[in-house]
Amino acid sequence: MSRKKFSLVKTVILSVIAAAVGLVGGFIAPLFIAEDRFTANITTDELTEAHGYYYSGDISDSVISVEDADLSVHFIELGNKYTGDCTLIKVGNTEVLIDCGSREQSVPFVESYLKNYVKDKILEYVIVTHAHQDHYAGFATAENKDSIFDLFDCGTVITFSNTNQKPTAKLYNNFKREIEEVKAKGKKVYDALSCVNNVGGAQDVYQLSDGVNLEILYHAFYEEGAHAESENDYSVCCMINCGEKKLLFTGDLEKDGEESLADNYKTKHGLNAGDFVEVELYKAGHHGSKTSSSEYFLSVFQPKICCVCCCAGSTEYTKNANNTFPTQTFINNISKYTDKVYVTTLCIDYDKGEFKSFNGNIVVALKDGAVSVNCSDNNEILKNTEWYKENRTSAYWDAA
Ligand SMILES: [Zn+2]
Repeated sequence: MSRKKFSLVKTVILSVIAAAVGLVGGFIAPLFIAEDRFTANITTDELTEAHGYYYSGDISDSVISVEDADLSVHFIELGNKYTGDCTLIKVGNTEVLIDCGSREQSVPFVESYLKNYVKDKILEYVIVTHAHQDHYAGFATAENKDSIFDLFDCGTVITFSNTNQKPTAKLYNNFKREIEEVKAKGKKVYDALSCVNNVGGAQDVYQLSDGVNLEILYHAFYEEGAHAESENDYSVCCMINCGEKKLLFTGDLEKDGEESLADNYKTKHGLNAGDFVEVELYKAGHHGSKTSSSEYFLSVFQPKICCVCCCAGSTEYTKNANNTFPTQTFINNISKYTDKVYVTTLCIDYDKGEFKSFNGNIVVALKDGAVSVNCSDNNEILKNTEWYKENRTSAYWDAA
């Protein structure tokens, strides 16, 4: 064998070995990295370095009363085993109600809660995020049953721009009838696209008080003719800006909608590629589903406090234990930013219709830059609860 030939053979053999090592390494290394990502003890200092901050404190020990607060947000329990949303935002005597699920029978529960805080019986703004009953059943009651629109005087109503609901669908028809009644009373009804484009009297920003405003956020699924696979992506989204503090509500928006919302927000507010927004309070998108609160979205809108409106662990939508609300994927994503996560309701036995409060009605109150969280049942954060320990894990929360 000539030297040259030997050297060629050697090169080939070495290349094969190198390729084999590379190939095996390529398969094995990510396993270790993935392992590391979800089981290693990651300190909050490391997270602070990664994201600018990691929120694990700064919640006021003393409770800010709703009466004293500059602003309070109330995540309301709905009185049944079904997951759903109903959020009251109170700024002085001005109120914003976002959604009213989960079923027609929830209306009396919501009414009795609202009566404590909406003394003048006027909801200045009502936002109906999308046409799913767990969000709009309270606005879509049968003709002989009172809806929220019948029980309270509503100022401006902002609804979804698009829906996949068939014109013949019963609930959707009820909703259309209720909306016509609101219009007949001379109230303003706008859709989200009109708001973001400021057309026909609709506004993208509504002043709620000195220094507090409601901003309707744009995403592409508002556009005329836009088709979303999931009704959830039509959700009306908004930000409450309270001085420097921001509170984010995205209905059931899913990954595609979240990406569009984040990109458009960055453009509108002149943010650069790596910039992020500190969000004081984030209502977990889509009840903490695995299709929302996506990694990119949370990297743009980094939450400090997160409230999940759901009946935790309920098999209403899935029997896969990892995917019941709040899902394992959601925990993986949110726990990277905060451990201040609260949940409204806990499912005991879905088939028997048994449920109880998790945290209960959650009230987040802001005053002079301080924030407090006070719940009707208990104030335990999710990671310290028995339900979490039995059903979920997190590399961030479980770190020693
Ligand atoms: Zn929903």
